[in-house]
Amino acid sequence: MLIDGHGRVVDYLRISVTQRCNFRCKYCMPNTPFSWVPKENLLSFEELFMFIKVAIDEGIKKIRITGGEPLVRKDLDKFIKMISDYAPEIDLALTTNAYFLQNYAQLLKDSGLKRINVSLDTLDPKKAQQIAQKNVLHKVLLGIDKAIEVGLKAKINTVALKNINENELISLLEFAKSKNATIRYIEYMENTHANDELVGLKRDEILNIISQKYSIKEVGKLANSPSTMYEIDDGYKFGIIDPHKHDFCDSCNRIRLSAEGLLIPCLYFEEALSIKKALKDGNINAAVEILREVLRNKPEKNKWGTIAENEISSRAFYETGG
Ligand code: SAM
Ligand code: SF4
Repeated sequence: MLIDGHGRVVDYLRISVTQRCNFRCKYCMPNTPFSWVPKENLLSFEELFMFIKVAIDEGIKKIRITGGEPLVRKDLDKFIKMISDYAPEIDLALTTNAYFLQNYAQLLKDSGLKRINVSLDTLDPKKAQQIAQKNVLHKVLLGIDKAIEVGLKAKINTVALKNINENELISLLEFAKSKNATIRYIEYMENTHANDELVGLKRDEILNIISQKYSIKEVGKLANSPSTMYEIDDGYKFGIIDPHKHDFCDSCNRIRLSAEGLLIPCLYFEEALSIKKALKDGNINAAVEILREVLRNKPEKNKWGTIAENEISSRAFYETGG
C-alpha cells in the first residue's frame, strides 16, 4: 500500500501522456505555440508501463490517462491494452476533449478502457470556438455519442466561467442527464498560463444558478472523489469540484506522472521529481525510491483556497493533466 507523509492512502495514478493538444482552451494553454515539446523528451509507452506495473503491484487501483489531449498521441490504444492486460481489474479511465473520440471510442473500449471524462463547457458552437479557439463542438458531440454507444461510462467536466458559460449551466446539466452521464462543474483554477481575463464561478454561485430551476440537496462526497455531489428534484446527481474549499485535500488519494517522467504530488505546487533517468536506465528500484520520496513530501494542502496575487500557480494543467 502507498501512504503519503500525512497518512493518506494513494491508490490513484494520473498519467499525462502528452503536453500537446489540438485545442487552445482559454483556461489551459491559450497562447502556447503548437508543437513546442520535442517528442524525444517523452517517455515511451514501454517505459511508462514499466513504472505502471510496479505502481499497480504497490497498490494503485485506478489509472486515468490524460494530457494535453491524450488522443493526439499515437498508439494510445496499445498502451491502454498493455495496462488492461496486466491488470484487468484496474479502474482505467481517460480524460479527453472528445474531438477524436468518434473514430477511437470502439478501439479504446476493445483495448480495455472503462470510463471517459469529457470536457464540455458549452453547447453553443460559437462559444465553443471562443473557448477552445477552434471550431470544435460538432465533433465533440459526435465523440460523446459514440463513446456512450460503445458502452464507455461517461462523465462531463465543465469549467464554470463568468460571462462565458454561466447562462448554460442548467442546459449542460440537462444535456448530461439526457445522456445518462454525470456532470461535474469544475471551479476555474487560476494559473499563469491561462487567459488573464477569466473569472471563475465559485461553488455557491454555481448552486445559485442551478437552484433557479431545481431544488438541490447536498449528498456529500463520494469516496476518493474530489467532487461534492448534489441531487436535484428528480434524483439526478451532479458534482462540483471545488479545490478552494478548506477540506478539499483531506481525502486526496492521487499522484501524477507527466509525459516527461515527472512525478507530481500536487496539482498546485511546482515541486516534482523525475523518474525519467531511472526508467531510461531500466532501473525500476530507483524509480520506486523516487516514488516513495515524492509521497513522503506530498503537500498537505493546495493553496487555491488562500490564493494571493503572487502565489498563482505556475504549474500548467496541460503538463499535469488537470
Ligand atoms: N485535453 C483533455 C481535456 O480537456 O479533457 C485532458 C487534459 S485537460 C488539462 C484535463 C482537465 O483539466 C479538463 O477537464 C479541463 O477542463 C481541466 N482544466 C484545464 N485547465 C483548467 C483550469 N485552469 N481550471 C480548472 N480546470 C482546468
Ligand atoms: Fe487541450 Fe484539454 Fe487544455 Fe483544452 S483543457 S487546451 S482540450 S489539454
